[in-house]
Amino acid sequence: MPILNRAAELQDEVTEWRRHIHTHPELLYAVEETAAFVAEKLKSFGVDEVVTGIGRTGVVGLIRGRGPGRTVGLRADMDALPLTEISGKPWASLTPGKMHACGHDGHTAMLLGAAKYLAETRNFDGNVAVIFQPAEEGGAGGDAMVKDGMMERFAIAEVYGMHNLPGLPVGQFAIRKGPIMAATDEFTVTIKGRGGHAALPHKTIDPIAIGAQIVTNLQLIASRSADPLKSVVVTVTKFNAGNAYNVIPDNAGFAGTVRTLDPEIRDLAERRFKQIVTGIAASHDADADIQFQRNYPVTFNHADETEHALAAARDIAGTANVVADVDPMMGGEDFSYMLNARPGAFIFVGNGDTAGLHNAAYDFNDDAIAHGVSYWVRLAEQRLGA
Ligand SMILES: [Zn+2]
Ligand SMILES: [Zn+2]
Repeated sequence: MPILNRAAELQDEVTEWRRHIHTHPELLYAVEETAAFVAEKLKSFGVDEVVTGIGRTGVVGLIRGRGPGRTVGLRADMDALPLTEISGKPWASLTPGKMHACGHDGHTAMLLGAAKYLAETRNFDGNVAVIFQPAEEGGAGGDAMVKDGMMERFAIAEVYGMHNLPGLPVGQFAIRKGPIMAATDEFTVTIKGRGGHAALPHKTIDPIAIGAQIVTNLQLIASRSADPLKSVVVTVTKFNAGNAYNVIPDNAGFAGTVRTLDPEIRDLAERRFKQIVTGIAASHDADADIQFQRNYPVTFNHADETEHALAAARDIAGTANVVADVDPMMGGEDFSYMLNARPGAFIFVGNGDTAGLHNAAYDFNDDAIAHGVSYWVRLAEQRLGA
């Protein structure tokens, strides 16, 4: 079964919503206008319950089917990124320093399209909960909605997420069982030495020389501590120290991120990180202050639900257009919190040959809309016995 006819009919309307949201990007939890737009649309479709303010600014719409049954959750994200858009499109962001560079405008619009379809047809038993979350880009809005009791309140039994993927052709889907996105942990380290004259290093404890040793040795976590068949990335993204040619500073600071796909490797990486930093600092008489923050967990696709997602995607796109074992990505995704709370699966939908995610030239590809809407509808109807 190809794209649903009704989804194709909705194409123009959903495109209009998508471009409206794109023009008016909002960041993190401050998605008030987008959330109001979503709530207003859901009410206009005759969605039975529309609840705002979940996880601060999240929105959930509940669509009741023909008879009693389980509730399936479908989730989109609403927030934009702190970038200035250079796409030059007529619907480009009107706010310098804010833009939809991750396609959450498209995700929100496609889920609205599916909600309109499902509210119109109600060709299922049980309920569909359409979930619109704030603060995916680093604010853990998905976690906030889970902690706010969303799963219990709407009796959500399983939950699904979708993200566009530049480079994957439009009309294609990609997914895998198990880990599909990485855990994203962050660290900030201060090496406390003793400053002094650059020409008298023996009278100092040079935090720059020590910090450089540490940064180099952190790469041994991936190459010597972790199983070569398991993924771990340790990247130092900041290193700040000193401000003169002839002065060794007291302190040096660096910060960065650790990405892993497996809870054991995540624990190992954190343990080895702390050992390397404190050990090398101590061996040179310096102290190290370490802040290690665990952020988004691994986005882990459950086995049965991945099969359900595959079935819906194959039904829409054809088996040849569905990649069932895509390589995991080392980016993070806070849908992971919802997948830790309920079984479910996260799928990629092709965005075609566009600029990459988080790039100032990026734009969501409206040609993907009918595919995304059809996938949501097919998945919901399939899971709820249509
Ligand atoms: Zn993003
Ligand atoms: Zn995103």
